[in-house]
Formats: sequence, structure tokens, C-alpha cells
Amino acid sequence: MPGSSSPDAHSSVVALVRCPSYEERVVDAAIGRGLELLGGIERFAQPGETIQLKPNLLVGRDPDRAVTTHPNVFRAIARRFIDAGAAVSYGDSPGFGRLSAVARRAGLATVAEDLGFGLADFSRGRTVSFSDGRLIKQFTLAEGVLAAEGIVSLPKLKTHGLTRITGAIKNQYGCIPGPLKAEFHARLPNADLFSQMLVDLNRFLRPRLFVMDGIVAMEGNGPQGGTPRPMNILLLSTDPVALDATVGSLIGLDPTLVPPIVYGEAFGLGRAFEIETVGDLVGSFLAEDFDVNRRRSSTTGEPGRYSRLARRFVVPRPIVLPTRCTRCGTCVSVCPVAPKAIGFETEDRSSPPVHRYERCIRCYCCQEMCPEAAIELHVPLLGRIIHRR
Ligand code: SF4
Ligand code: SF4
Repeated sequence: MPGSSSPDAHSSVVALVRCPSYEERVVDAAIGRGLELLGGIERFAQPGETIQLKPNLLVGRDPDRAVTTHPNVFRAIARRFIDAGAAVSYGDSPGFGRLSAVARRAGLATVAEDLGFGLADFSRGRTVSFSDGRLIKQFTLAEGVLAAEGIVSLPKLKTHGLTRITGAIKNQYGCIPGPLKAEFHARLPNADLFSQMLVDLNRFLRPRLFVMDGIVAMEGNGPQGGTPRPMNILLLSTDPVALDATVGSLIGLDPTLVPPIVYGEAFGLGRAFEIETVGDLVGSFLAEDFDVNRRRSSTTGEPGRYSRLARRFVVPRPIVLPTRCTRCGTCVSVCPVAPKAIGFETEDRSSPPVHRYERCIRCYCCQEMCPEAAIELHVPLLGRIIHRR
């Protein structure tokens, strides 16, 4: 069972390490430096321990698309833990596709084979109680996660429709087996509730280390259909709140606009302020033109803040771009509400799918999983007036 420590004296230290390419030896040296800045690998691994690596394997994409954790980041971390005597495995619950196929396409399966470790069991789930949960008292988690003594989270720096960025805190969502993830979207239909769940999940799992791949990040229409953006950085921390807040500082995004950071601080998961950064200077990575949603409250439907009517006229809505749509149907498959809030009008899919906004909870799963970047989020006119940049 993972989990152990609460944030300690080192918890709000974030190591920033410049890494100008994905060349294997360059990444390996940068990871080594980052670990030393946090106290060395010995702080995170003991001989014989079972360690679960949790990369971001949203879908099967080539590494240069910047959708998944890069294989050489995965390799460098795995190698350090193996050298320290840990028994390593890895896994994720992809948004679409079989884990083994997604890991193969993303280049991680080859790395694991090279280094002699394998996939953990993410197909079966087990229900566990969490009496300390602020919102969620029970999770069903992948067997492979529960079997490990420690989790090392390997998020990717990307934008996200619902939570603005998908970073260290959100990366643990993939510890929930696939079909159950959709249930949470339907049960927790706004960014605030969803983020509270994410924070509880992290409070239960307590990954011992987070290593974020920001060497080439993703901006714009992320987390799958955005634009790769070189940031040349690796971020390492034991505090996911501090790590995500530091990302906010780098890309000019106020951390108080990111619900997982807000609730992460409020629920005691970590610190959003008073963060100590070590390594390279924050100022040398600033990307204040990073294309990310900076509108105050524009993506959320916070309880009490927006009525159903206001959600319709204020909160961004997903829009299908007909010229890009290949009519694959992924968006329809992943829509978590019943009846679906997006669908084809004819069986032969002669035209792109259509949203039924009166049923749409604005979870943005359709936008997240569209393989063609054919769904974008548009703020209705009233929302643009209320939340002027
Ligand atoms: S997932 Fe994207 S490409 Fe596929 S049908 Fe939906 S909008 Fe079209
Ligand atoms: S249509 Fe898209 S945004 Fe709306 S509920 Fe379905 S998946 Fe979520």
C-alpha cells in the first residue's frame, strides 16, 4: 500500500533543473542533478522496496507530440530507482486504448523491457476506505497501485480544459481504473468538486516523489490536442501543490485560478505559497505568453456561483470543428453523462457529432480525448463580457 509521510520540512522545496533536450545522456544528467538537489535517491528508495512509476499515458501518441511523459525521463528515473535496489513497475489508466498498446506507442514499453521491469495490474480495481477524505471516503484503485510500497509520479506539463493545467496533482487520476474515471466526472460535475476529489486521492496515495517533464510542454488546446512548447525544464518535489504552483509562476498563471492547487492547500496536501525553489532560477524559465486559460472562474460551474442557465451562457462550451473531425466517435464514447451530451445525428456518421448543451456538464472529456484536436472550448459572449481578460 502506498502512502506514508505527510509533508515534512522538505516538502515545499521544488527543484528546477534546466534540460535543453531529450537526448538520453542529457536527461539522465538532469534527473541526477534534480535528485541530488532534493537529498539524493536514497531519500526515496530503499533496497527491496516495491515502487510504482506513474507516468502520464493519456493516450497512445508518439513522444514528440508532448502528450505523454517522455521515455527518456521515464528511463532516467526508473534506472535510478533500480540502481537503488527498488523493484520497479509502472502503469496508468489511459483515457482511451489498452495500457499495453498506449505504453508501446509512447515509447515506455521499450524502456521497461530494456531495464527489465513490467506493467503493474491496472485492469482490476480494489475498493479502499479513506475516512480522512474531505469529500471522498472511498476509492476504487488499481491493484498495481495498491500493491506497491511507494508511488513516484511522473506528470507532464500541459494545459487542461477543466483544471487549466494537468500537473502533479491531477496525474494520480490515472490510478483509478478506466471506466470508474468517467463515473467521477458524472458525479462531480464541476472543477471544484472534481479537484477536491483529486486532492483527496493524493492525500490517500501520498506519492513520495513527483518529477514533472516540462522539457517540451503543451500549451493551447491540451491535454492532447495542444501545441508542443519547449520549456527546457524538469521540476522535482515531494509536494505536488508546491510543484503545480511553481508551474503557475513559470507560465504566468495565478495559482488561485487552479482548483487542484486551491484545494490542495486548503486540505493540507501541500503548500501553494512560501515555496523554496532550488537549482536553476525561476526567472530563467518564464513563459508568460504560454497559451493557458487565465480567465477568472471561466471554466468552472462552482456550486452557488452559476445557475444552470448561467452555465449555459457563461461557462466555456465544447465546439466541434467540422473540418478537422474524422467522425471517429471517440468523443461520444467518452462522454460520461447518460444520455450522452454529444452524438451523431445519423447512423452513417455523415456529419460530425453534435453537442446537446442542455445535458452537457462541461467536463470536457470530449475535448480532452479527441485525437484530431477537433473540439475546442469557446467562451459564450456573456462569459467573455463578465470575465474580460
Ligand atoms: S473525437 Fe474528434 S474527430 Fe472523433 S468524432 Fe469526435 S470531434 Fe470528431
Ligand atoms: S459533451 Fe463533452 S463536455 Fe459535455 S458532458 Fe459530454 S464529454 Fe463532458
